[in-house]
Amino acid sequence: MFTTHTLGLPRIGSQRELKFAVEKFWRGELNESGLRACGRELRLRHWQWQHAAGLRFVSVGDFSLYDQVLDTTVLLGAPPARFGFDPAKLSRSQYFELARGNPAQPACEMTKWFDTNYHFLKPEFDGDTRFDGGPQWLLEEVREAKLAGFQPKVQLLGPLSLLKLARVQGIAPLALLPRLLPAYVRLLKQLVAEGCEWVQLDEPILGLDLDQQWLAAFAPVYRELAAAHSHILLATYFNGVGEHSTLLTSLPVAGLHIDAVRAPQQLEAFSAWPTNKVLSVGIVDGRNIWKTDLDAALDTLAPLHARLGDALWIAPSCSLLHVPADLEQETELSETIRDGLSFARQKLAELATLARALCLGRSVCFQSLETNRTALARFRALPARNDAAVAARLASLPELERGLAYGERAVLQRERLQLPLLPTTTIGSFPQTTAIRAQRAAFKRGELSERDYREAMQAEIAQAVAKQEALGLDVLVHGEAERSDMVDYFAEQLAGVAVCRHGWVQSYGSRCVKPPVIWGDVSRPKAMTVEWTRYAQTLSKLPMKGMLTGPVTLVQWAFVRDDKARAEVALQMALALRDEVAELDAAGIAAIQIDEPAFREGLPLRRADWPAYLDWAVCAFKLSAAGSRPETQIHTHMCYSEFEDILPAIAAMDADVITIETSRSAMTLLDAFGEFQYPNEIGPGVYDIHSPRVPAVAEMTVLLEKALRVIPADRLWVNPDCGLKTRGWPETEAALANMMAATQQLRQRL
Ligand code: GLN
Ligand code: ZN
Repeated sequence: MFTTHTLGLPRIGSQRELKFAVEKFWRGELNESGLRACGRELRLRHWQWQHAAGLRFVSVGDFSLYDQVLDTTVLLGAPPARFGFDPAKLSRSQYFELARGNPAQPACEMTKWFDTNYHFLKPEFDGDTRFDGGPQWLLEEVREAKLAGFQPKVQLLGPLSLLKLARVQGIAPLALLPRLLPAYVRLLKQLVAEGCEWVQLDEPILGLDLDQQWLAAFAPVYRELAAAHSHILLATYFNGVGEHSTLLTSLPVAGLHIDAVRAPQQLEAFSAWPTNKVLSVGIVDGRNIWKTDLDAALDTLAPLHARLGDALWIAPSCSLLHVPADLEQETELSETIRDGLSFARQKLAELATLARALCLGRSVCFQSLETNRTALARFRALPARNDAAVAARLASLPELERGLAYGERAVLQRERLQLPLLPTTTIGSFPQTTAIRAQRAAFKRGELSERDYREAMQAEIAQAVAKQEALGLDVLVHGEAERSDMVDYFAEQLAGVAVCRHGWVQSYGSRCVKPPVIWGDVSRPKAMTVEWTRYAQTLSKLPMKGMLTGPVTLVQWAFVRDDKARAEVALQMALALRDEVAELDAAGIAAIQIDEPAFREGLPLRRADWPAYLDWAVCAFKLSAAGSRPETQIHTHMCYSEFEDILPAIAAMDADVITIETSRSAMTLLDAFGEFQYPNEIGPGVYDIHSPRVPAVAEMTVLLEKALRVIPADRLWVNPDCGLKTRGWPETEAALANMMAATQQLRQRL
């Protein structure tokens, strides 16, 4: 019997049912049994999808009320001790307290899941952590699947990845193995008893740079685990693991999953895979939404199938958590763009066709293959996929440099902008009030005319400008009232980019994002921000900062076409933004901010791949900025990041001013900039915008004094950590007033 399977499905629900249920539960509007019923319904639906696609198993363990890493920690009985919960009797309310914090304890730390836009909760272990078992939710789900008539394959984060991703204090992470392994063994034995034929243990850390001690741990760990369960599928993804092929082949596990989308070249390294073990080949892209080219996939799989027979399994490259649930709902997308797309549910169907074609021959599914072929051919032939004008611009890239060096630009800018010492500004957005959102919704529903909408937004802009003038800020912003989102706003206006209606992907907990789809060559049909910015500038004599989302971030937070290099797509994006920058500049806008909050997170998983990324990322940013005149001040903004090891790249971006998020680290982030002797201007955030708390003047003077020890006064700016769109006006005005007072105090002392 030929095996197809999946490494998990999105759990949020095609209509984000889980999000709404969980949030209702938090508000006390849904009781626990209602919440559990929602979970059951979603699991059942997703199992039915898998069953309908002929998958051999249904996935159990991919569902989670908040985060699958937290679930693993809880399942093992090791929630952070600081909460004081009884691990064995953890309730669902307590589970959410771990995820979201409570009045006594901050939430578990959230971190990016490898190079995806999903965020997991970091386990917290120490020398006293015990793994004596937690609530039996997973086993309940196993039984639920069996009761519904499905054959479950349980998936769990493997012990080494769990330890590697955890924050471990007071003990070496690997020293926890003697306690952790028995917990896994116990669990595996329970799964045997429940009749779970296969267990998938995920070890995605194999795709990272791993040092010897971690690699050496795999053999003994998996020897012990394999003794407890005879059918372990060790799953790797997000990168090639070919360099570890000898180790992986020698492990006593029954199967290995590899990602043949991210790293097709690794198939070569596993060409001698023993036929008595399963090789699961991730052939359908779990990270992107493009329809699989079934002919090409079959060409790859056929020789493997010929050699391995039923020992070859096929699957998505990784969990489908990273793609939206169901394309069927996207009725508003153009037919030809849909031709090129495939969401989670469609990807399962692709697996089914691949399996039939492999086992029974391509002629048995000639119609399915033909449908795939013609749809892809239509999609690929879209003229906008290969826009000659874009190609011509890329072939002779305009100047990347600003014309004058920073030092000379700074003189011109000082003359033009007439700013005081320690200039003050904000990061762009002001509170997105319910009124603003209601107006946008009415406009989208057609209940508000374009003119009325414009006037309403202009009124919001005028209000934001007046408030900034009253506060005494030096460089103003228009407040981004007209933008629902810093990515969508541009995605909706750029050619070659589509926005889905229901294409939600979980970002963390109940939060979802809807990444735009970059399906064609990117260009800018017309100005995107100039009218609003120009309007805002008419309201004040002070400089109004133009506000754009940068090319790296626009690419990083989108689904990006895979027929052209990411670098090329980023350069296309940069050229489109360059036109916008030039037009803002021509309109007399003296300062333009190009936000790049995703710059750091775009770094590849392995260090060896960093230089290539940084090359194109820096290049894209510079390309977008360099069309401006030297007397125009280019700002960039990045959210919380570890800058230390990428400072040369940050400096190479050559923005006149960079604003960064630092208050959470009490300015220590800035030390690296000081040591590196970062040459341009910098605005370290002086207060955290993530909570409504209003910081006292003294808190900010202390931070500014710290900053002044590292950055010379004539290159230091004063600003909050990030945009203020999630805040209310009262706390925003109070906090900014205190920020201004702190700045005033320091100016007097300087
Ligand atoms: N200009 C954006 C804002 O102020 C920047 C947001 C971000 O960095 N994530 O909202
Ligand atoms: Zn930010």
